[in-house]
Amino acid sequence: MMIKVYGLLLGLAILSQNIYAQRRIIDVHFHSRSAGDYGEIPPPNPVTGKKPNALTNEEICQSNIALLKKYNVVKVISSGSISRNDDYAKVEGQRFISSLEYPDHQNNPLPDTTTFVRLFEAKKFFVFGELGLQYEGRTLDDPKLEPYLAICERLEIPVTIHTGEAAPNTPYTCCPKFRIGFGRPLSIEPVLIRHPKLKIQLMHMGYPFLEETKAILNVYPQVYADLSAIDWLVPVAEFHNYLKSLITAGFENRLMYGSDQMIWEDAIPLSIKNIENAPFLTNLQKEKIFYSNAARFYKIH
Ligand SMILES: [Zn+2]
Repeated sequence: MMIKVYGLLLGLAILSQNIYAQRRIIDVHFHSRSAGDYGEIPPPNPVTGKKPNALTNEEICQSNIALLKKYNVVKVISSGSISRNDDYAKVEGQRFISSLEYPDHQNNPLPDTTTFVRLFEAKKFFVFGELGLQYEGRTLDDPKLEPYLAICERLEIPVTIHTGEAAPNTPYTCCPKFRIGFGRPLSIEPVLIRHPKLKIQLMHMGYPFLEETKAILNVYPQVYADLSAIDWLVPVAEFHNYLKSLITAGFENRLMYGSDQMIWEDAIPLSIKNIENAPFLTNLQKEKIFYSNAARFYKIH
């Protein structure tokens, strides 16, 4: 009997793993990090406590790719420097869609607008972001960004912007200009007014600004939101409550899976599991979050 029970449990475990593995996934918030981005000795994952095993650029690239393959993450919006995104594209050109991150961990300056267009036309990047402007005490409405946003609207380059909050003590450590208020979802509204055709991905679902996120998604149908970081960094019940509220409000066609794995690859399986286990989501809603909403937003066929 016990053997039968174990056999049944094993069968269910294999079945559930297969369900995870079979579902096609697009990760719209992936980072092509480099060794040393988070210090010489990388800190452990704040949730799992696991230290990153991969310590060289090549190891980081290979271990991420292995996990993406394992979980059937077929496309990735890869946010990072052009050179680091190139490393990934060289190995797995079909899987990675290069996104120009600013500011990035190598402190690369934002290219001037002529170079920006030239890099886009040379297919060095397809998406503009993650724009971590909040860390610099700025918003998307900053006048310095305006010419770039006009180009993005004209050339149909999607823009992805960090919204919400950050790790504890952020203003006291890396980023003295960081303020929570600069991450409010409503701060993108002036840009939406000036550039009605610009497609914007509101990162981290604007967490914890639920009401502002709902308002932006309701009034501006060109805005989508990603679940990244919140789907593994905050307590699962809190993540589920927030996501459920957006689903109940009717936004199941505008929410996209993202890991924001940073330097912790184990965030990928963890975030997938937390969405799969959300008891209020139907299978169709999960399929939309994991794949079809992002496929529509990024014109992936
Ligand atoms: Zn972010």
